[in-house]
Amino acid sequence: MNRKKLIAGNWKMNKTSAEAVALAREIVQGAGTRTDVEVVVCPPFTALESVAAVVDGSQVRLGAQNMHFEPSGAFTGEVSAPMLRAFFATHVILGHSERRNLFGETDELVNRKVLSALKNQLRPIVCVGESLAEREASLTLKVVQTQTERALEGVSKELAAGIIIAYEPVWAIGTGKVATTEQAQEVHGFIRGLLTKLQGEAVSQRMRILYGGSMKPANAPELLAQKDIDGGLIGGASLEARSFLELVKAAAGPA
Ligand code: PEP
Repeated sequence: MNRKKLIAGNWKMNKTSAEAVALAREIVQGAGTRTDVEVVVCPPFTALESVAAVVDGSQVRLGAQNMHFEPSGAFTGEVSAPMLRAFFATHVILGHSERRNLFGETDELVNRKVLSALKNQLRPIVCVGESLAEREASLTLKVVQTQTERALEGVSKELAAGIIIAYEPVWAIGTGKVATTEQAQEVHGFIRGLLTKLQGEAVSQRMRILYGGSMKPANAPELLAQKDIDGGLIGGASLEARSFLELVKAAAGPA
């Protein structure tokens, strides 16, 4: 199955609106009209509107880093799926390990967000991954299985194909430690098998599974050449246009 590779930049809590516009402009310019790789940028909420104007009419898509599962209401400080859609966001990162670990997000909460995103025509980028202690206790596959199964509970086959899974070993995020290609492919292959069990072969073959965790231009080509690695969710290296665009190029494969 020929899945189009996807490179998504998670800018986290970085960039003012003006800085985000400058970065988005460079990315739009650099990505040009290329359609062989899907490119998504996920600025903070405060820069969504300004970045939306920059990516408008380009091949670059807009994503958010989080959302609430309710469409509106008394949820101080939160932002909903319809609000993101109003900025023409197409993607939303859900269940990032920083949300799970620093803000107490549970598998159940992530599932409610996934269902709400799908209902509002947003593509969830669902993050799963084990901590260092879990890897050392040989719990990696169990943790990834539970997180993936719970996140997808109640999702129909028709909508599941639009979900993107990001395997992000927590110990590799922002640490400079990258999973070896064998470690990454082993988990990606396992997730593909799990998706086949949950959603059937046809759907699982269409679903993209991204790798995230210190992906950089130097290690990306080998990771992206793996059978079940369909792109990357990029933190640190997405904050500069040059490194991010190199990753986009790497995802397109050898010229
Ligand atoms: C992330 O936080 O999603 C991530 C992959 O970060 P980094 O690339 O900095 O490890």
